[in-house]
Amino acid sequence: NKQVILRDYVTGFPKESDLIFNDATVDLSVPAGSNKVLLKNLFLSCDPYMRIRMSKPDPSTAALALPYTPGQPIYGYGVSRVIDSGHPDYKKGDLLWGIVGWEEYSVINPTSSCFKILHTDVPLSYYTGLLGMAGMTAYSGFYEICTPKKGETVFVSAASGAVGQLVGQLAKIMGCYVVGSAGSNEKVDLLKNKFGFDEAFNYKEEKDLNAALKRCFPEGIDIYFENVGGKMLDAVLLNMKLNGRIAVCGMISQYNLEEQEGVRNLSTVIYKRIRLQGFVVSDYYHKYSNFLELVLPYIREGKITYVEDVAEGLEKGPSALIGLFHGKNVGKQLIVVARE
Ligand code: NDP
Repeated sequence: NKQVILRDYVTGFPKESDLIFNDATVDLSVPAGSNKVLLKNLFLSCDPYMRIRMSKPDPSTAALALPYTPGQPIYGYGVSRVIDSGHPDYKKGDLLWGIVGWEEYSVINPTSSCFKILHTDVPLSYYTGLLGMAGMTAYSGFYEICTPKKGETVFVSAASGAVGQLVGQLAKIMGCYVVGSAGSNEKVDLLKNKFGFDEAFNYKEEKDLNAALKRCFPEGIDIYFENVGGKMLDAVLLNMKLNGRIAVCGMISQYNLEEQEGVRNLSTVIYKRIRLQGFVVSDYYHKYSNFLELVLPYIREGKITYVEDVAEGLEKGPSALIGLFHGKNVGKQLIVVARE
């Protein structure tokens, strides 16, 4: 069973050598009466939160993401086929998405974060992103936390990524004015010409983020979907409108820092009556069927589109995962372990 193993806890930016590609002999039997299933893993998702799991246990984040165990395979969201089952709800041949090991085959106990895949007329890989955890993040963050209204102005950072590209498209469908930031001109082009954002800018080429936001939002921002934190958040705070909402989804610019950057303009939340709220996607998994009801028709009609960055082979996993922290991925980063 080929696997990707964490060598040791990581500090700073992760390196490919922090992950070991290994071929291990492991017991792949389903113990009788155990409710477990044996899975063949088809696609694996690369997600920024996995970096948090590579760090030494920290009481401030442990409740959110338990650390990986050095010497053991890392794990994350994946799409898999059931090979053998001791679970009454799963039978051989079923497809599911949920947490699995970064390995060819996994024996897992399907939990509440594990979903059977019932719609296969769309690409199966979408369940690593658009129709999986990232899609649910965009959906719950945008509708539940941002409380959007038609005509409002929306800013999305890391906008071409797994979550951002869907947030922008949902906001456009709602009738909002939408601007995204991304880290390359290729990504900016995608935002404007593929996902239908009204405006987009390359934050790496802007000398002054505050000026870039003022240019795109002369009258200010109603909603900020926060994916990056740091300097971008500071600049956004200067440009929020009265009663604006900030959905704090992620802060990828902070994940590899040993000490987090401060936020200088936080006091503006008082005077502008801003609602700044963090959220965790798994709190909304009970709404997964509502999400599918909304999004599947849009995908089938071509009203929502999705760009994936596909790495072929489990051995490409470490470089694909680490690439997220250098903006190498164009769209949702996933790994193909097996096609069927
Ligand atoms: P992406 O597909 O957007 O990939 C990460 C992207 O982040 C990179 O491509 C890069 O894009 C950008 N990035 C990397 N480093 C930096 C940096 N230092 N400063 C600014 N941007 C950077 O990832 P996801 O869409 O999967 O995740 C987006 C955010 O959502 C993350 O912060 C993640 O942790 C969070 N998240 C939160 C969840 C929750 O439950 N709250 C659930 C899922 C995700 P670019 O080239 O544009 O810089």
